[in-house]
Amino acid sequence: MTKKIFNSIVITSVITNVVTLILMNVIDISSTVNVGIFFASVLIATVFALRLSRKITRPLIEVNPDDPKINYSEINPLIKKIRTQKGKISRQKHEVMNGREQLSLITENMNEGIVIADLRNNILSCNSGALKLLGVKNVGEGQSIYLLNDSETFRHCIQNAMGGRNSSCILKTPDGEREIIASPSNTTDTVNGIVVFIFDVTEKQQLETMRREFTSNVSHELKTPLTTIYGISDMLANGIVKPEDVGHFGKNIRSEAERLIILINDIVSLSKLDENSIPRDDVETDLYELAEKILERLRHSASEKDISLSLSGEHVSIIGNRTVLDEIIYNLCDNAIKYNKVSGRVDVKVSHIPTKILVTVSDTGMGIPSEHINRIFERFYRVDKSHSRQIKGTGLGLSIVKHGVIYHNGTIRVESKVGKGSVFILEFPTENRK
Ligand code: ADP
Repeated sequence: MTKKIFNSIVITSVITNVVTLILMNVIDISSTVNVGIFFASVLIATVFALRLSRKITRPLIEVNPDDPKINYSEINPLIKKIRTQKGKISRQKHEVMNGREQLSLITENMNEGIVIADLRNNILSCNSGALKLLGVKNVGEGQSIYLLNDSETFRHCIQNAMGGRNSSCILKTPDGEREIIASPSNTTDTVNGIVVFIFDVTEKQQLETMRREFTSNVSHELKTPLTTIYGISDMLANGIVKPEDVGHFGKNIRSEAERLIILINDIVSLSKLDENSIPRDDVETDLYELAEKILERLRHSASEKDISLSLSGEHVSIIGNRTVLDEIIYNLCDNAIKYNKVSGRVDVKVSHIPTKILVTVSDTGMGIPSEHINRIFERFYRVDKSHSRQIKGTGLGLSIVKHGVIYHNGTIRVESKVGKGSVFILEFPTENRK
């Protein structure tokens, strides 16, 4: 701008000079004096133009649009526009910063992992959840996504997404199992990058394994008695069995059928507890009376082994599901008899302290080796498979007990000594009490 003003002033002064000289008829090209006057006037015009153009442009160069005192009528509209633009830019910058802060606040507080990467496999963004779930530290923006995990499975999943296909996989990490879902981010036909979600699926996978094991165990447990029933009835149908043996085979069929009924009942109870489909019928149950009735029902099987049954404590009522409470105490007492020695003892005690209702079932039986204690509540788990043939059972009883206790917000623990006996201790919160 300065240059332009300068040029226009110089040219204008030169032209004015020349025109003035011509008009005054004093110019004579051959005269050296006149040529000298001409160049001198050009020089003066140049110096003058330089100073004038600087003077004109200085306020423009030095202008500070934020200075409220500034007041040049020629440039005021421009300054006003600059001020408006500046305000707009600062507002937008503030909004972007706020948005970024909010986004980072949300993603940093998520349990799930989120990673965004470009097509060169570089991380653009990665929250701390992703690092935690994948068990890595100090990996972030600008670094390769494969620093998060360099397994073949992960690479394959990421490459699929980079190729424009949604992809997922399960990774095993020292802390559990992780599900990776990688999605390409597309505009029309072009992939711009990928978004990777990481979830902790340890519990889900464990449940899935348990479900698979349960199905296979149920099938096995159902098949065994059914095969026996089928075999015996086939022999009876074909007249192979001697008349004097019919009674014996008939008893076998009944016993296997009984086993099937118990198993099916256990499975039904367990799945009801699993599905949480047991109604919360707020019925008041006296645990002492309930235990008394249960022991009465078990008196016959106890007498077969000459086992004495005793009940002590006090009448304590609890609000809960009577059928479930019955199953809990029945299963514990039934086990205490089954796994007891001949002429042993089973003691049930019902009591309460200010914060808890306590039910203990003690026996003088074979006891449970410590390495098995944590597993006896698993479905189909039996401590000694070899004597499980002699002592009837499904391996589901304690699993039902555990779920029933959880249903009543209670806890269960076991103290046991091999060869001496076991004590199962149930604790329910007193809020369940009336
Ligand atoms: P089961 O139908 O086999 O009795 P449970 O789930 O009730 O199934 O019990 C699981 C296993 O725990 C049993 O097979 C047994 O080995 C062990 N167990 C349970 N209660 C007792 C007990 N009172 N004394 C010794 N072992 C026990």
